[in-house]
Amino acid sequence: MGRFVEAADRHQASFLLAFLEDYVDADNPVRIIDAFVDELDLAELGFARVQPASTGRPGYPPGTMLKLYVYGYLHQLTSSRKLEREAGRNIELMWLTGKLAPDFKTIADFRHDNASAIQIACRRFVAICRALGLVGGGMVAIDGSRLRAVNTHEKNYTKGKLARRKAHVEESIARYLAELEEADSAETRPATPRIHHLTERLASLRGRLRELEEIGQQLQAAPDEQVSLTDPDARAMATGSDHRGVVGYNVQAAVDTKHHIVVTTTVTNRGHDRSHLLEMATAAQAEIGAAEMIVLADRGYYEGEQIRACAEAGIIPMVPKPNTSPAQARGFWSKAMFVHEPETDTYRCPVGAQLQKRFARVEGGKLISVYFNQKACGACASRALCTAGKEKRIRRWEHEAVLDAMERRLQATPEAMAVRRCTVEHVFGTIKGWMGATHFRTRGLKNVSTEASLAILAYNIKRVVAVAGVASTLKAITG
Ligand code: SF4
Repeated sequence: MGRFVEAADRHQASFLLAFLEDYVDADNPVRIIDAFVDELDLAELGFARVQPASTGRPGYPPGTMLKLYVYGYLHQLTSSRKLEREAGRNIELMWLTGKLAPDFKTIADFRHDNASAIQIACRRFVAICRALGLVGGGMVAIDGSRLRAVNTHEKNYTKGKLARRKAHVEESIARYLAELEEADSAETRPATPRIHHLTERLASLRGRLRELEEIGQQLQAAPDEQVSLTDPDARAMATGSDHRGVVGYNVQAAVDTKHHIVVTTTVTNRGHDRSHLLEMATAAQAEIGAAEMIVLADRGYYEGEQIRACAEAGIIPMVPKPNTSPAQARGFWSKAMFVHEPETDTYRCPVGAQLQKRFARVEGGKLISVYFNQKACGACASRALCTAGKEKRIRRWEHEAVLDAMERRLQATPEAMAVRRCTVEHVFGTIKGWMGATHFRTRGLKNVSTEASLAILAYNIKRVVAVAGVASTLKAITG
């Protein structure tokens, strides 16, 4: 006769193991959180209430609260209510916190009150990754991802959106007024329920119009002409995956290519990437301590001044040029077909004519030289393919040699962009997967930055466990 695996009797005295320690294996990642936080100098990092107050109700130790949060982000328990619940029933958390189970308000307040300190603490884990030899230091990939804030599209306004919404309300008011007039002339007194309904709708729409006018005043005062009502720091940003874009934040990360450890991260509410290359590259360089470092980034980061500043800081940028040639868009040969010859400081055109530098002028704060050869173009049989004008003019930025050198590097290393993709894109894929369909829990740039730091720390802990294992990591933490 067959039988099942036998369950224990839940009424027996020794149903559970006697020691909490027995529930946490030696290779349980929770031990990394415990050791990591224990090694931090919380007072130096700026945590509040590191020393217990001599009067009043005793508070929870900040180290325990930090452990609770790191555990939470490692297991996708990011809300304070979920953490409160888990602290009371999750054996690993009981082990980690010594069975302390703060209420959700205390948990939420800790994240809010220690935002900057938590961010610094999260960054300290990179030093452990370096000690384990997991950070190569020679090459990092930079990327950004737009993550949703606690602010719907409906609560975000730009000038265009406001105009559309106002027009819609005004249209509705006009329609209801016409209906009211018609009902008024057709009905006898006293007013019928229909007239009551129309009057109420009109009052509500007029109230909505007043609200929109107030938002219009806020928009005029906003430096970037955008207003978000729920989370004032959140901004509407374009994304490749959703035609509506997101109202949220731009999370930037620099990831070392050796073992895909995130070496630095920052959160901004600027929706584009082109102004982030230098900031991220220098932050990564400082974190890694590399004198010379290659930085891989996608076309969104291509900005001349940023690339030049990186090169001056000992950083070797590799950023492909965007495919945005205006000449090509109009059906003419693109600038890429014209080769600059540094010895003579001239351009060689596709049919072999030499274009000389004729004059220079400042455009948008940059010194631009203009090259052309009127005579050659006048006699050129291919002119219809080259320009709509009398002669083709090529414009060159005074520091364009930096961009040319970068282009040559990219051509010599065709695998660079594949390395960038493999290194950095799954970091955001993983974090978005953890977040699921949800958004950041908190509001405001500072608090959202704390959330992003905790998510990145959780990601790095997972990488370290996968690559080095728990025992080696614990050894690196405790020295
Ligand atoms: S039009 Fe001028 S620049 Fe263009 S291919 Fe002919 S000679 Fe060269």
